[in-house]
Amino acid sequence: MTRSNGVLRLKAGRERSLALRHPWIFSGAIQEVEGSPAPGATVDVVDAAGAFVARAAWSPVSQIRARVWSFDADTAIDAAFFTRSIARAVAARGGMLDAEHTACRIVHAESDGLPGIVADRYGDTVVVQLLSAGAEAWRDAIAAALQQATGARCVFERSDADVRSLEGLDSRTGPVIGALPPEVEIVEGGLRYRVDIERGQKTGFYLDQRDNRAILRRYAAGRRVLNAFCYSGGFTIAALAGGAQSTLSIDSSADALALARSSLALNPALDGARAEWREADVFAELRNLRDRAEQYDLIVLDPPKFAPTAALAPRAARAYKDINLLALKLLAAGGLLATYSCSGGIDAALFQKIVAGAALDAKADAAVIMHMGASADHPVALNFPEGAYLKGLLIRKR
Ligand code: SAH
Repeated sequence: MTRSNGVLRLKAGRERSLALRHPWIFSGAIQEVEGSPAPGATVDVVDAAGAFVARAAWSPVSQIRARVWSFDADTAIDAAFFTRSIARAVAARGGMLDAEHTACRIVHAESDGLPGIVADRYGDTVVVQLLSAGAEAWRDAIAAALQQATGARCVFERSDADVRSLEGLDSRTGPVIGALPPEVEIVEGGLRYRVDIERGQKTGFYLDQRDNRAILRRYAAGRRVLNAFCYSGGFTIAALAGGAQSTLSIDSSADALALARSSLALNPALDGARAEWREADVFAELRNLRDRAEQYDLIVLDPPKFAPTAALAPRAARAYKDINLLALKLLAAGGLLATYSCSGGIDAALFQKIVAGAALDAKADAAVIMHMGASADHPVALNFPEGAYLKGLLIRKR
């Protein structure tokens, strides 16, 4: 058996979730820790009788006290482990990158067997997020492995997500390998988009909506489109490419709207005169549009995470219901609503219930014509249902 820096002994019976290969060990499951592992150090997890269960990264500050790197007693956690695991994750996305698609997620944390590690490829640049103490401890090896597996010129770190503080980590952004090019541009579905890697949201672009942008593009022809929470205009540009008659795109971020405008300008085949951008609060603006009796044929609602955890679900549910109710009122007969939730605290069944309640109150007869999720480069490991954070419904109003 390969040695590690400490031993984490579980309480009796608490190895059960690990037997199902769930990769998280909560503080309440731990009997004792032998040795004094540093944050991020590799520990051997053993059951109450002392039998090996897993090898994991120790995270003394977080409620998720350890995250499993491997369930195999013979697997050493070293630089070669990250080289191998990252090469496998990159190879699995082989079919998602071509001349028409130059960006995709290449490492999706727990669902790729790499808890706390997210990496997105934008052409020659890879953006990495290290979100746990274990990921932080292997920063250099991870960056080198990403560079090696992709041949990227630059590996840029965006470890500035809120969850870092739960792990006792400060935020950090900047190049790890190479230098960021002055401007980063990607192609998705043959359309060009500008990505703000240094200051944009997440790692710069909502790659998880790639398949859904392609779906809505197919439904957009001739429709008056309202894109609420548009960020850098992903759905708007896809809808224009699909022949939308008009688009109104709303976001509260002026920077996001500026980025969206510059992306649209990169696509001269699209009619920019059909695109209106509005800096506003969506909750207020949907009410203004309703009061003016505006109507749309395709509405996209892709709000930020209202409920990062289940504890925040009740308040989030009210917010989701509010915007969906307003959207269903703004929808013309025969119109389509593409509505999303990326809240970990709200599962697909609850989300559909909330939207059903909104339809009832809006007095709208509506039917689900498609269930949507994150794109194929954002897998959900079967042993990690928490990975299914993005839920979407495509709804037709009668
Ligand atoms: N659909 C986008 C991603 C949306 S992310 C895409 O495919 O790229 C959520 C967006 O909502 C962010 O751009 C954020 O600036 C915006 N936002 C958050 N709260 C808002 C509010 N109350 N009103 C308007 N926009 C808001």
